[in-house]
Amino acid sequence: MERFVRLTAPTGKFDFLVKLLVFVLISGLMNHVRHIFVYGLPGQKTYWENLSDATFTALPMCTFALLLIGHLNALQKRLYLQATRDALTDLPNRRWFMDNTPERISPTQAMMIIDVDRFKDINDTFGHDIGDRCLRQMALHLRTSLEPGDILARIGGEEFAAVLGQADDAKLQRIATRMSEGLAFDPGQGSIQRVTASVGIARSDRTMVRHDALRLADKAVYQAKSAGRACFRVCVPDHRLATPHGFPVALPSTSLS
Ligand code: GH3
Ligand code: MG
Ligand code: MG
Repeated sequence: MERFVRLTAPTGKFDFLVKLLVFVLISGLMNHVRHIFVYGLPGQKTYWENLSDATFTALPMCTFALLLIGHLNALQKRLYLQATRDALTDLPNRRWFMDNTPERISPTQAMMIIDVDRFKDINDTFGHDIGDRCLRQMALHLRTSLEPGDILARIGGEEFAAVLGQADDAKLQRIATRMSEGLAFDPGQGSIQRVTASVGIARSDRTMVRHDALRLADKAVYQAKSAGRACFRVCVPDHRLATPHGFPVALPSTSLS
């Protein structure tokens, strides 16, 4: 039904008129077939006469149906948007991420998970509202760190995920460094706080199933946390940590501490 609504919903005035014409022609055809069944073939009305008979009823009904379908389609889109967008940061949420990221991550792409460091301390020190503001700024910082074509979503409380398209090592390093360095946050109480993030990257020279890539990126986040936070780590499918001489090429990890 959703597909039917999407297909038939008018996309503009011209499309509305074309679809109305098609609907009315179909109604004429149905009236014609009914006429043949009731009165038989020979000497009966032509299709155009039956269409003309049907038009009086079909035109208002089809107009109403198309308006209704258009409304349903707009509603469907609005509900999907509401269900897939995070209200706090205005980023896509986990559901959107799962619906829209490729099922398979190619070797030119990379899966990234970004976890804000010691975020509970921000909440505990400055309160939940300031924490919310900090999360919004962090979301903006992450979004502006990425390039067109990359995907970013808030997948949990202070956790974000990204899929980088065409991610060569230089791009990965540049983006992951900027993300992990975080931002200088002003809670409005006289002191500027540096809010950093731990970034985990899943990378492979073969295609990865998304689920495995997420698991791997998550593992890399934990590696980054253990390494002191404010840094990034790269994990490869055999769960080895990327080192300056490891896979995929030379992707050094960074640490601000
Ligand atoms: P770590 O460096 O180990 O990740 O430490 P952390 O404090 O960031 O991690 P932890 O999981 O202990 O705490 C995450 C905190 O994020 C706890 C939770 O209250 C907070 N949080 C989650 N969602 C929101 C939100 O929408 N708004 C605010 N203000 N806080 C949130
Ligand atoms: Mg977390
Ligand atoms: Mg955290």
